[in-house]
Amino acid sequence: MAAVPQRITVLGSTGSIGVSTLDVLARHPEQYTVYALTANRRVDALLRQCERFLPEIAVVGNAADAAVLERNLRAKGIRTEVAYGEKALCDVAASDHCDAVMAAIVGAAGLAPALAAARTGKKVMLANKEALVMSGQLFIDAVLASGATLLPIDSEHNAIFQCLPSRYKRSPHEHGVSKIVLTASGGPFLHRPVDTLDSVTPEQAIAHPRWIMGRKISVDSATMMNKGLEVIEAHWLFGIPAGRIDVVIHPQSVIHSMVSYVDGSVIAQLGNPDMRIPIAHALAYPDRMFSGVKPLDLAQIGTLQFESPDFARFPCLKLAYDALRTGGATPAILNAANEVAVQAFLEQRISFRRIDDVVARVLDKVTTESSITGIDSVLMHDRAARTVATNLILQ
Ligand code: NAD
Ligand code: MG
Repeated sequence: MAAVPQRITVLGSTGSIGVSTLDVLARHPEQYTVYALTANRRVDALLRQCERFLPEIAVVGNAADAAVLERNLRAKGIRTEVAYGEKALCDVAASDHCDAVMAAIVGAAGLAPALAAARTGKKVMLANKEALVMSGQLFIDAVLASGATLLPIDSEHNAIFQCLPSRYKRSPHEHGVSKIVLTASGGPFLHRPVDTLDSVTPEQAIAHPRWIMGRKISVDSATMMNKGLEVIEAHWLFGIPAGRIDVVIHPQSVIHSMVSYVDGSVIAQLGNPDMRIPIAHALAYPDRMFSGVKPLDLAQIGTLQFESPDFARFPCLKLAYDALRTGGATPAILNAANEVAVQAFLEQRISFRRIDDVVARVLDKVTTESSITGIDSVLMHDRAARTVATNLILQ
């Protein structure tokens, strides 16, 4: 008897991770059907995805875009229901009609729907690292309480997940884990003279040497805030303190991350830099399936290089480690300030080096008495940090 297909919701289906997810799903039509697709503004791209995948529901950001999408769908004879706004995102993430959710919205906007999926005990494939950085223990508690299966899509965390024992339960010392080592490409400015960084343009910053990604994460890779957010993400996913999370720069991005054990063994996961690997891993978990990614040819790559990150070149990485050590709402504040600063840089309102400056100043101003008691307090700190960051940028 053929297995019943899994019904998938792809939050952020028009983005880089969303498109890669649909690419993998399209290779296995007998195993998966698409329950819901969501996009913020790119209605045309979402319409094309609806034509191809015929989801039950499509969600967009506002009523006007929803009306346009609905009209265009009906004109093509497609019956996909259309909804809009945050509540609709949460509904499609939590619906009984879906078995697994790809959480691939960028930034804080993805928190509520990712949490809604986690609370309903589904398989949650988490690309949206900002959601976990902001909510930390709250998110993990929701996963544990509901029995959800949380699978990391970030390539480093997916690699670590694969390198840990299958019975690993958020407790490194019980499993002889001494460290986890996150690899980082170093981004486009790894060797550019530091005193010229202030003049780099958004186009230069998003031209990542190894990975093709959305604009926000590409800028985060150039500042290495991305790696900083990943240190915090790793802490929450694997229950590992900051002092046991190392970062090593590895420009080829072939080793996606490693786990060091107390006996001196180091287990790494390798592959070509293509997000369809972690996406296929999470979709098929605990089985394996074809992702569309070319086999790795180490002889052709020839050399794998490693170096330590330089905090003077990448102050955002240090700010993130410090935020994790401070705890409470500090990572949420760091994340909010960074989102505002990156957006301002992309809109050419601030220079590249002001990104870390804005984040540092916001952390100085907002961190006092910043514990988190629930999702409302996370969102309150997020809003406060955004206001301070916006005012700093205007000055
Ligand atoms: P992207 O910018 O390409 O796509 C973002 C998606 O989110 C789009 O579908 C967009 O419509 C949607 N979106 C944006 N703002 C929204 C809002 N306010 N409300 C609802 N939907 C909204 O981003 P991406 O590169 O695909 O990254 C998505 C997430 O995955 C990020 O958190 C990123 O850090 C993480 N991630 C991405 C990669 C990668 O290779 N691209 C790798 C690791 C982790
Ligand atoms: Mg990553």
